[in-house]
Amino acid sequence: MYSRWFSKLGKRVVQIRMQQMLKSRDVQQDYEPMNLKLPPSKEPSKAKQLLAILSLDEKITLLSGQDEFCIPGIERVGLKPVWTSDATLGLRGWNAPVTDFPASIAMAASWNESLLTQVGECIGSECRALGIGVLLGPGVNLARVPVCGRNFEYFGEDPLLDGKMAGAYIRGVQTHPVITTVKHFACNNSEYDRHKSNSVVDERTLRELYLPAFKYALDAGSLGVMTSYNQVNGIYASEHAYLLEGVLRGEWQFDGLVISDWNSLYSTDGVLSSGVDLEMPGGKYLKREKVLDAISRGVVTEEAIDRKVLHLFTAYEKAGLFDCPLADHALKVGNDKHRETALQVAREGVVLLKNKDAALPLGPSLKLCIGGDNAFRVAQGGGSSMIQWVTPPKTFASLMEDNATSLPRHWYHRASYRRIVASSDAVVLVVGFNHIEESEAYDRPWELDRATLRSIEHATKLNKRTIVVVQSGGALHLTPFADKVSAILWTSYLGSSTADALYDILFGNVAPSGKLPFSIASSLSDYRSMRSYPKDYAAFSLARIHKGQGDPNIRQVSPSDYTENLMVGYRQFDSEGPAPLYCFGHGLSYAAFSYDDMMVGEQGEGNFVVSFSLANISDVSGAEVVQLYIHPLNAKIYRVKQELKGFKKVYLNAGETATIEFSVSPEDFSRWDIDTWRFVSDDGPYEIRIGSSSRDIRLHQVVEYKERKP
Ligand code: BGC
Repeated sequence: MYSRWFSKLGKRVVQIRMQQMLKSRDVQQDYEPMNLKLPPSKEPSKAKQLLAILSLDEKITLLSGQDEFCIPGIERVGLKPVWTSDATLGLRGWNAPVTDFPASIAMAASWNESLLTQVGECIGSECRALGIGVLLGPGVNLARVPVCGRNFEYFGEDPLLDGKMAGAYIRGVQTHPVITTVKHFACNNSEYDRHKSNSVVDERTLRELYLPAFKYALDAGSLGVMTSYNQVNGIYASEHAYLLEGVLRGEWQFDGLVISDWNSLYSTDGVLSSGVDLEMPGGKYLKREKVLDAISRGVVTEEAIDRKVLHLFTAYEKAGLFDCPLADHALKVGNDKHRETALQVAREGVVLLKNKDAALPLGPSLKLCIGGDNAFRVAQGGGSSMIQWVTPPKTFASLMEDNATSLPRHWYHRASYRRIVASSDAVVLVVGFNHIEESEAYDRPWELDRATLRSIEHATKLNKRTIVVVQSGGALHLTPFADKVSAILWTSYLGSSTADALYDILFGNVAPSGKLPFSIASSLSDYRSMRSYPKDYAAFSLARIHKGQGDPNIRQVSPSDYTENLMVGYRQFDSEGPAPLYCFGHGLSYAAFSYDDMMVGEQGEGNFVVSFSLANISDVSGAEVVQLYIHPLNAKIYRVKQELKGFKKVYLNAGETATIEFSVSPEDFSRWDIDTWRFVSDDGPYEIRIGSSSRDIRLHQVVEYKERKP
């Protein structure tokens, strides 16, 4: 049994160190374009022209970063340095009043692709305002285990939702001359010993679960990819010939930039022959002497170096970075439009899990008590995502100051507070994690802390209308209080919009419309993926970090066996149980929707059009996320029970009806075939299901799929 207090102390130390290391810097924008000194040439590609005039030494300089977050330039030829920046919660690391956006998992909970494109546009525009050419994200690693410290930085447990959300965001960012680097490629699904873990995963699982989101991101136009710290089947991701050369460059024909995660290289030779193009944050394995030595030993040729530099230049050229000013003075960070978009995502990212006896929304004149740690702080995730606010944002408690009694942390020990709680009309407890417990570099606990659980327990005994808002980056243990409280809202870290978004949802200015992007099981051991997971997942010790997290000489890599294979999240719970406490895709609203008149039209060649009518049958306007799942009926080989193959977020005024349409294509029936090493769609019957969640299927119809003939 690890000591939570002790681990928290260690985590606090690491966060302080990380935040010191990642201290915000002043921005010196460069409003001039690059002025490449290219000789006359018939070659249409500037990337190739530029490469042709560089010396070997100059090319080697471009294999590694400088100043922690910068890609070097080469003055002689007019190539300027290009800055990179993280952006999980908004642009991090700049002394500027940037807009902080809700965490990616909150964005995923909105299930709203067009909203994510708007977010991407805002982020892209803030990059341009600050002079950032390469965005270090978005992150698309699947929520394989609920306790992964970085789940808040990703888009949930399903590859389609994950990929579509990332794609929508990328399309928005890249409306500007900014390169996105989708990360962390690949199988970086936990933070436990991230430098020392080897994700052991079979090919079918890799193809069906862990790679698709990257493919969606590239199809959406991402010009960059970032590799991960871990090994995949025994080889470090930063030098993985099969993943990088075979899949990414070969099958997917990606010709853009592959950058390393920070300090995630482990050799020179492997990387030079089949690894990343650019080592960040600086040259350790790809520094000049090591690269020259590798060339002299014949491990690598100059042509191989050329290819790497060309990938960088190709990304620059496609993004338009060779031709535009590096920063745009017409654009401003933190403007009203961006803040309004952030607030919109924050509202849409809140998921109403339970609402017994219409405990919510709250009326304006109720006597209220507000408590819970996160009511008094604006919680964020930690590590490289954390924003250092120029002005601290308002908290939910401060917003409610004049209209509610604030409860201190251990209020239940004091009779005066117990009386206030008992005599209030409702109690709202905003609880959850923050950057100390939830961050990169370690995993987070499954349970809320003891004081929080006691506070909820006491509140439910004293007041029937106890409402819990729980903030986390993913699933957590809700069973201890789920059937005792009247209402539960799950939300992730919502940035400076937190207080306003919670207010709008709690008081019914906006009907909740978020849906869970992951499953919440009753108990941690219900997740198959946890059965082979280290038992001390949330423990933390500096000694362990020192024992090789970053030092290859003493590092011992351990396998992280993906023994659950395809049984991740709802794929497991729907195929073999047990029933989760709150299922994937679940989320209530103050509005109510009916689903009717499903029709499926066959369009030939394995394509179908599915339509149905959706009606808002309440007197509250709101949005519903309609979900399409496919359930194979006579599968040739083992298939999971059902998979998400489409979703749409639909806004309907009270009483309004709309016709919803989905297209289903042959790919939607497919599975990875190990014999032919490709995705195949087997002939046969499949049930198309339309639901309000993965377990609230409202309409279904069987179709017969037949392979399309060439
Ligand atoms: C993280 C990356 C991040 C980088 C730069 C690393 O620790 O894993 O996601 O982009 O730092 O801040």
